[in-house]
Amino acid sequence: MADMWRAGWHTHRLQFFDFRKYAVTRDYPYLDGTSKLSPYISLGILSIRDLFNYAVEFSEEFVRQLAWREFYYYLKNKYPWMRNMEIKSRMRNIRWENDEYLINAFKEGKTGYPIVDAGIRQLKSERWMHNRVRLIVANFLVKDLHVDWRIGEDFFKKNLIDYDETLNVGNWQWSASVGVDPLPLRVFNPMRQAEKYDPLCEYIKKYIPELRDLDHKELHDPLKYRLKGYYEPIVNHYERIKKFKEMIS
Ligand SMILES: Cc1cc2nc3c(=O)[nH]c(=O)nc-3n(C[C@H](O)[C@H](O)[C@H](O)COP(=O)(O)OP(=O)(O)OC[C@H]3O[C@@H](n4cnc5c(N)ncnc54)[C@H](O)[C@@H]3O)c2cc1C
Repeated sequence: MADMWRAGWHTHRLQFFDFRKYAVTRDYPYLDGTSKLSPYISLGILSIRDLFNYAVEFSEEFVRQLAWREFYYYLKNKYPWMRNMEIKSRMRNIRWENDEYLINAFKEGKTGYPIVDAGIRQLKSERWMHNRVRLIVANFLVKDLHVDWRIGEDFFKKNLIDYDETLNVGNWQWSASVGVDPLPLRVFNPMRQAEKYDPLCEYIKKYIPELRDLDHKELHDPLKYRLKGYYEPIVNHYERIKKFKEMIS
């Protein structure tokens, strides 16, 4: 996989990645279903105009993702302070718990929620994480662990090969429901997300091979099934979401 980031890989990828299938494959982290061009884009190696002109022939959905990128740049221009402050004014001044034990468990990929831990392991081993899993782990850090989104943003900054401050901040604010999302609160249940986007736990088992002999139903629900030889869930998702709602009300 590290092979992906060698010089010139993007020209090969442009030639062989099937943009026509992108709309159906992009959300499933166990598939090679996204372009993985982000490091080349964020480092300015790949021209965004060239990419747009090429991809527009094949995939409206891909162009929609490029539009998100443009949108975050627009927001940065409109709110130059968004790096440090929540765009939604009523979401400023949240009393984050920032519990060191929970933060460390998250950063070490030991939360006991396999989809979250697999994402952190992918990030550490490849310096990249699938978008669907970025959404799951960001939601988890903020809404389940009650950790300030800026701490997550900084953790991604230190680990992502495609780090782009504008996109990272914009996406962390969106995930934390403090940014531009029109929904007042968007909750991602890590268990239901794993069930939907990694139904047979192929992604989970790839990054956490010690779980390969466990049944996918068990891996999807670590609160119900005790996962033999694995970390216990550090929090109860349902209780923590209830508490998060109280924190922001
Ligand atoms: C919490 C969080 C933090 C993120 N931090 C970064 C970051 O630091 N740098 C970064 O490049 N992307 C970031 N993203 C956006 C997205 O996850 C990545 O762009 C994508 O996973 C890169 O993989 P890809 O090139 O295969 O994407 P593809 O699905 O192939 O998409 C093509 C391109 O569209 C753009 N794009 C796709 N999704 C988004 C999005 N949600 N927001 C803005 N642009 C998007 C990217 O330039 C991407 O390379 C973040 C997302 C989340 C949820």
